Amino acid sequence: MPKKDARKSPPARPAAHPPLGDLELLRSLSNTAAVSGDEGAVRKLVLEAIGPHVDEVKVDTLGNVLAVKRAARGRQPPRLLLAAHMDEVGLMIVDHDSDGGLRFEVVGGVSDRVLLGKAVIVGPRRQPGVIGAAPIHLLSGDRLETVVRSGQMRIDLGAGSQEAARRQVAVGERATFATEFSVLEGAVRGKALDDRLGCTTLIGLLRGGPYPVELHAAFTVQEEVGLRGARVAGYAVEPDAAIALDCTPSNDLPDSRGRENTQYNARLGHGAVIYLADAHTISDSRLVAFLCRTAEAAGLPYQIRQPGGGGTDAGAIQQTRAGVPVVSVSVPARYLHTPAALARIEDWENTIRLLQLTLEQFDRRILKK
Ligand SMILES: [Zn+2]
Repeated sequence: MPKKDARKSPPARPAAHPPLGDLELLRSLSNTAAVSGDEGAVRKLVLEAIGPHVDEVKVDTLGNVLAVKRAARGRQPPRLLLAAHMDEVGLMIVDHDSDGGLRFEVVGGVSDRVLLGKAVIVGPRRQPGVIGAAPIHLLSGDRLETVVRSGQMRIDLGAGSQEAARRQVAVGERATFATEFSVLEGAVRGKALDDRLGCTTLIGLLRGGPYPVELHAAFTVQEEVGLRGARVAGYAVEPDAAIALDCTPSNDLPDSRGRENTQYNARLGHGAVIYLADAHTISDSRLVAFLCRTAEAAGLPYQIRQPGGGGTDAGAIQQTRAGVPVVSVSVPARYLHTPAALARIEDWENTIRLLQLTLEQFDRRILKK
């Protein structure tokens, strides 16, 4: 395991070769809105991207995209399920105030601390709005220090009346942060890297191959509200093993006094993140060992996720039918579930390489007891 010294992270370097991951696809997926339960726009992009590269594809009752890429050879290839969630955290409009303000509920884990004053995009017609905040000039005392609760906030579309706001946005429609995707110096920034990074990775893997495994891909819905899509996807596919591809928070900056941070659970610049356990799962130790061996043999950097909350689709898939061996592999990213997450392209590429090798080298013997 690497030494816990966040200050010695390697500096960001721009990739010297064309990136392994499709940055333009990631851009369009990250900019598209798909708050849990309303994943249609991302699903459409996924279906277009994978159509020519898979042998079967369907959309299930909950809205998961389930695709199959048959094995290159072998009579009984292992069925390996790779899952990435299409949904993102965001807001759901629940009512219109008499002055035109929109009341909302938070969907998934978003802290009230990051909402106030943020620009948002609302509804399928992408109406620009802002989560209203009193300007600092008019605040004093406690009101400058305390966190305003989301129930007291409103989204302001600039509509002058309830009727005008109703014409623009209907109850039940979703809102997302208005952040546009950007490519930085060796890094990417976007509102929904969690988990459009995983979706883009999975699309890339389907474009490659075929592999010696029967590759089942699940682009899942409603992960952010309790791994709901993955539960039915795992049941339908009935895989021999499954890997959740996600994006994991890396709280890896030094603390405010510049001291070493020992609270991170993953760090940027240290490669793919392999999970031993999270709040929902204990990973299958044979799969963890296989991933570590595969990375080491190829000279790929990787890191073991450190303790912390959260979970991935693996948590639901593990418990379907008679049980499924699972593990999660994530790209580390900072500031997840805020208006702008940030990840390094190098970490993403190392994750893609590890997964390509996994698909090429996976066989049933790995799962022998
Ligand atoms: Zn995620």
